[in-house]
Amino acid sequence: MDISNKSRTRAIIEKHDFRFKKKFGQNFLTDGNILKKIIDAAGLNAHTSVIEIGPGIGALTEYLARQVKKVVAYEIDTTLIPILEEVMSPYPNVMIINEDILKADVRAMIAQEMPADDIAVVANLPYYITTPILMGLIEARLPIDRYVVMMQLEVARRLSASPGTKDYNALSIAVQYYCDVEIAINVPRDVFIPPPNVDSAVVVLKRKAQPPVVVKDEIFFMELVHACFKQRRKTLLNNLSSYFEGLSKEEITQTLALINIEPSVRAEALALEAFGKISDVFHEKRC
Ligand code: SAM
Repeated sequence: MDISNKSRTRAIIEKHDFRFKKKFGQNFLTDGNILKKIIDAAGLNAHTSVIEIGPGIGALTEYLARQVKKVVAYEIDTTLIPILEEVMSPYPNVMIINEDILKADVRAMIAQEMPADDIAVVANLPYYITTPILMGLIEARLPIDRYVVMMQLEVARRLSASPGTKDYNALSIAVQYYCDVEIAINVPRDVFIPPPNVDSAVVVLKRKAQPPVVVKDEIFFMELVHACFKQRRKTLLNNLSSYFEGLSKEEITQTLALINIEPSVRAEALALEAFGKISDVFHEKRC
């Protein structure tokens, strides 16, 4: 019998006298249809190894274990470990690591547990740290091919947003620099115990073979993108002027003219490629 239905989830919680911890963003999935859709979206096979973040009581872990070569799941909450050990005992291909994913050496784990495998991250993420988890793993350039991850709908919209939309921001650009992003599944609140206060979505992020722009300095590119969005309603000129304290508005306007970008434009109207040009033309002028 699957873990992922409301009565089995309640029975496991009661048997182990488990207390939910809000600080760890614990909302357990109890819907087999959503789990099947997540598995389909992840394109798993017997050569895939999966990294799961936050297995909870193992609803998703169990579905993954049935499909893939190996699952390595990081769970921060020590009180969940004996539960996971019990419910995962029929699945020898599951390894549970009791560690904070933000502190874990994922590169070393991959080298030891899943070298040369097709690797995917599949997870119902703890929402309070969605961005640091994703950006940490993506920016580390680990050999992870795709991320199929549940998160707050609002964050999902930002990650997948296009220029000129209200959700488009520095995070959209940072993520889309590395990955193709799409929202695959919308998820209502009532499929979780306890239900979260927000709607959710499953996002598929596929690593790009090459970034869409080649920039002189990636760290400066990311920093500049954040600076351009710092005050969303301000023009590009004003945001750049706050960032480059040593440059006059005339100098900034002249520099933007070299790449045919209007100083009066707002960052939300500019595509990723434009930020690549801005980053390169201002590279020599950085503080
Ligand atoms: N995967 C389970 C499911 O779908 O039912 C639980 C998902 S729940 C939204 C998030 C899980 O992440 C919880 O089990 C929580 O304890 C765990 N978690 C929270 N912060 C974590 C961290 N920093 N590192 C690893 N796991 C974490």
